[in-house]
Amino acid sequence: MAETYAVINQKGGVGKTTTAVNLTACAALSGRKVLLVDADPQGNATSGLGVDRSILEQCLYDLLTDDSVLGPSAEAFNEVVVPTSIQNLSLLPATIDLAGADMALASVMSREAKLRQVLRAGAERYEVVLIDTAPSLGLLTINSLVAAQKVLIPIQCEYYALEGLSQLLEIIHLVQAQINPGLRIAGVILTMYDARTNLAAEVEAEVRANFPGRVFRTVIQRNVRLAEAPSYGMPAVVYDGNCPGSRAYWRLYQEVFGDAETSLGTRSESTHIG
Ligand code: ATP
Ligand code: MG
Repeated sequence: MAETYAVINQKGGVGKTTTAVNLTACAALSGRKVLLVDADPQGNATSGLGVDRSILEQCLYDLLTDDSVLGPSAEAFNEVVVPTSIQNLSLLPATIDLAGADMALASVMSREAKLRQVLRAGAERYEVVLIDTAPSLGLLTINSLVAAQKVLIPIQCEYYALEGLSQLLEIIHLVQAQINPGLRIAGVILTMYDARTNLAAEVEAEVRANFPGRVFRTVIQRNVRLAEAPSYGMPAVVYDGNCPGSRAYWRLYQEVFGDAETSLGTRSESTHIG
C-alpha cells in the first residue's frame, strides 16, 4: 500500500490545498508515482490541477457510495481516477456531488472506513497518496484520518492560528485509539508567513513551543505566485518553479518525504530563505 498522507486542519483557508497540490507535484516531478485524492466538495485541488469539474461523470463520491460488500473494484477505481498535465500525477477528483457524501454514508456500516476501502481498491499502484480535506471535522475528514498513515497539519501564521487544534488532536487520538493505531502526525507546516510582521514571528514561536519537535523547519511564506497558480490550473511549482513559494515547497518536500525523522524540528532555527 502506498504511503498515505492526509492534509488536515478544520480551519478554512490555511493552505491545505496549496500544500497538497504542490507537495504532490514535487513528488511527481521527482519521479514518484503519486495520487492526489480530493476529499473536499469544494474541489479546489481538482480545479487547481486544471481538471474541469463540470465534465467529470464520476468522482470520489461514486466510489465511497459503491454498495458492494467488498467496496469498489480496481476497475471502478481506475475509471474515476483522471490523469493530470503532470506526468506521474493522477487525481481522484471531487465534484459537487461529494457534498452529499457525509449524508449518504451516515447510515452505512463501517462508515468511517469507506475511504480506506476505496484506496485499497487501487492505491497500491502509487508510491505516495495525499488526501486534501475539507475545512470540517465531518465524516469525510474522519475517513481521511482512517485511510491515512500520516497527518500533515498546515497552520496559518495569523491570529487564532492554534484555534481548534486541540479538538483536531483529540480526534486524531480517538481515531488512533479506535480504528487506525498506525496513524502518526508527520508534522505541522507553518504557512502564509509574512516576514514583515512581528505577528508571524510570534505565531511561529508559539506553534513551535506548543509542538516541540513536530514543526517542519521549512516555513511557507506569503507569496502571490502561490495564490495565482490555481487560476492557471497548475501547481505553483510548475507555474513558476523559481518563485520563493515554489522553492519553499521544494524544501518542504525534501523534509516531508526525505529524511523527515532527522530533519523535523531538530534545529532551533527555522528557514525563511526566499
Ligand atoms: P479550505 O479550508 O477552504 O479548503 P485551504 O486550507 O485549502 O482552504 P488554500 O486554498 O490552500 O487553503 O489557501 C487559501 C487561499 O490562500 C487560496 O486563495 C490560496 O491560493 C492562498 N494561499 C495559500 N497559501 C498561500 C501563500 N503561502 N501565499 C499566498 N497565498 C496563499
Ligand atoms: Mg482546500
